[in-house]
Amino acid sequence: MINRLCVIGVGLIGGSLALALKKAGYVNKVVGAGRNIEHLEKAKSLGIIDQCETDLGKAVSHADMVFIAVPLGAMAGVFNKIEPFLHKHTIVTDAGSAKHCVVEDATRELGVKVNQFIPGHPIAGTEKSGAIAAFDSLYQARRVIITPLEENSRDDINKVRAMWKAAGADVDEMGARHHDLVLAGTSHLPHILAFSLVDCLNQVDDVDEIFRFAAGGFRDFTRIASSDPVMWRDICLSNGEAVLAMMNRFENQLTTLKAAIENNDADALLEIFSRAKKARDGFCM
Ligand code: NAD
Repeated sequence: MINRLCVIGVGLIGGSLALALKKAGYVNKVVGAGRNIEHLEKAKSLGIIDQCETDLGKAVSHADMVFIAVPLGAMAGVFNKIEPFLHKHTIVTDAGSAKHCVVEDATRELGVKVNQFIPGHPIAGTEKSGAIAAFDSLYQARRVIITPLEENSRDDINKVRAMWKAAGADVDEMGARHHDLVLAGTSHLPHILAFSLVDCLNQVDDVDEIFRFAAGGFRDFTRIASSDPVMWRDICLSNGEAVLAMMNRFENQLTTLKAAIENNDADALLEIFSRAKKARDGFCM
């Protein structure tokens, strides 16, 4: 049970955690913190938070748990502002989609208090943004990865695990570097492909014609290209090394496919598509 939760960045991810914990009766009071008082008032009117605070120091000073859910590019600034106001008992965690960069920011900005920071990443979301998009079941039966630091106590890690469990999620632990490589393949590369496919088609002549006849497959594949551009810019830059490694692999795969079509190689195409179908049918039952 959390007495006072502070959510910094009350958007889709932060707002949904607040709603889930309230619904589960796992939190007494939620303080929402951010830069824009109108956005915070809106979140309050939606019942997501109980109190609005634009001063991050004040927001965290009596919190038991602080959840940072701002874009990756804003993490360092947030750590810097809250550090002087963190009490010894306060646990800080986050939702950033890449973990090594957040660990670096936290280590630099929190100093010795980095032991109070347990990095995390809920593998859940939608292409929508803002508090208005938040909903209480976002984390139901979804996975959350936490990437603990050597400095963390097992007691604090368990408190973060218990919070996510109360929100309905299953929690896994792994190293930050490993997390970044896995997510580069399963999340970051697919978003890059969706954005670039839509942008590529958008530049051809007869673009209206193309989008008018877009079928279900196109809609399924490109839904995530409606995601927030700022968030995805930050993710690509923050996890550049792993993202580039995955892009290189994918480039090689495209080259292989191109060669098979150029050479009229029916067997090669069938082999690749059959292998992919078997793999996907296996993991998405
Ligand atoms: P969002 O745009 O819905 O919400 C972000 C919130 O942060 C907004 O309320 C914004 O006003 C606030 N904010 C921005 N800069 C700030 C700053 N400097 N100080 C204080 N507040 C600031 O975004 P979201 O989808 O909730 O994503 C939040 C975090 O969660 C990101 O780090 C993202 O990588 C991560 N994440 C997103 C998803 C997803 O699918 N959307 C999934 C998992 C993790």
